[in-house]
Amino acid sequence: MTRYHASWIVPINEPPIRDGWIAVDRGRIVARGRRTPASDVTREVNLGRVAIMPGLVNAHTHLELSYLRDLIPPAESFMAWIRGVIVARQRRPDRQSPEILDAVDRAIADASAAGTAIVGDISNTMVTMAPLKESGLAAVVFYELLKFNAPDPGEIVERALQEIDALQPTDRVRASLAAHAPYSVAPLLFRAIQRAVAREPFRPYSVHLSESAEEVEFIRKGTGPCRAVLEDVHAWNSAWKVPGVSPVQYLDEAGFLTSNVLAVHGVQMDAADLARLAARGATIVTCPRSNRHTGAGVPPIEAFYKAGVRVAVGTDSLASAPDLNVFAELAAMRAVAPSVAAAALLASATRDGAAALGFDADYGTIEAGKRARLLAIDVPQGIDDVEEYLVSGIEPRQIRWMES
Ligand SMILES: [Zn+2]
Repeated sequence: MTRYHASWIVPINEPPIRDGWIAVDRGRIVARGRRTPASDVTREVNLGRVAIMPGLVNAHTHLELSYLRDLIPPAESFMAWIRGVIVARQRRPDRQSPEILDAVDRAIADASAAGTAIVGDISNTMVTMAPLKESGLAAVVFYELLKFNAPDPGEIVERALQEIDALQPTDRVRASLAAHAPYSVAPLLFRAIQRAVAREPFRPYSVHLSESAEEVEFIRKGTGPCRAVLEDVHAWNSAWKVPGVSPVQYLDEAGFLTSNVLAVHGVQMDAADLARLAARGATIVTCPRSNRHTGAGVPPIEAFYKAGVRVAVGTDSLASAPDLNVFAELAAMRAVAPSVAAAALLASATRDGAAALGFDADYGTIEAGKRARLLAIDVPQGIDDVEEYLVSGIEPRQIRWMES
C-alpha cells in the first residue's frame, strides 16, 4: 500500500482537504484523510504542491469527427454550421481510413493528457470502439441513429444492437444507442430506441436536445432552416405531424426522457423544460465552447443548476471545439455562470458525469473502494480556493496521472 501526501485532496463528495493524504492499494483507493495515521503502509510518497482529484468525465464528444479539426469555421447560425458539416462530410473518407483512425488515436491521447478518464462518445460508424479498447479510457460509445424518414424503425434499432454485440463491448468500454436530434429522427425511431435501452437494467442513452433556435422553431411550427435542410437532403417526410410544443415537451410526451438519458446542449431550454428534465432525473450535458462555435448561442448554465437538473460536461467534437480539454470547458462554464459554485462545476465534470454514464461505482470521487484513476494537478503558491483555481483553465502541462 502506498500513501500519497499532497497540499490538496479534492474528493468531490466533500470539501477539499488541505495537506491531506490518500492511501492506494493495487489500483484502488483505501482511505484518505488529513492527519497521518500510524504507519501501515509500505511506501510514503510526497507529491508536494499539487491537488489530487478524480480523472475527468467528458460526457459528450464525437471522436470519429476528429479528422474535421479546424475544418469547419465558426457560424452565425446553427443550421449554417450544420450545412458546413454536411459539405465537409461529402468528401467522406472511408470509415477505416488512416485519416479517420489516426485522428481518433490522437484525440484519445490528447483527451488523456488533459486529464480525461471517461468519455461519452457519439459514433455513427462505431469505428471508435477498437481504439478505445486499446486505450486506458473508460467509455460508453453511443451508436447514433439519424433518420427522419424511417418506415422501419424497429429494424434499424435491431441492426444497430447486432452491430454493437459483434464489437464485443467490455466492462470498461461499453456501448449503447443515441438519437441524433428531434429534427433528424423520426418519432417512431425515438420510441424504438427507448424501448431497446429500457430492456436493460441500466443503459444510458443520448440525444442532442434544444440546441438551437432553429430546432425549437421546427418542432413548434414545422418551419424554418431545419425543414429546408431536410428537404435539400431529401429526408423530409410530408406525413410528419408538427408537435407544436417545445423539443423537451415533445420528447417527454414520447416517453424518451428518463433518468438514463443524457440530453446534450439545452441552449434553448426554458424554466418549464428544465423542470421537466429535473422531474425525470435526466442529465443535461453542457458544451458551451461548441455552442459558441456553431452559432447555437450561450447555454443558460445558471438556470440548469438552479432547476436542480443533474449537469455533466462535454467538449463536443473537434469539429466545433478547439481541443478535448474538459478543464477548458469548465473555464468556459465558469465565465458563463459566475454564480454557480466551483465545487458544483467540478462535481459535474467528475461525479455527475460518471453517474450519468453508469461508471460511478468505480470513478468520479475519491472514496474508499473506487479506482485510483486520479490526477495530480500543479497548483501555484498562494492559492487559497483550490476549487476556484481548478475551474480557471488548467493546461495539460500541469496535469499528471497518478500511477494506479
Ligand atoms: Zn454532439
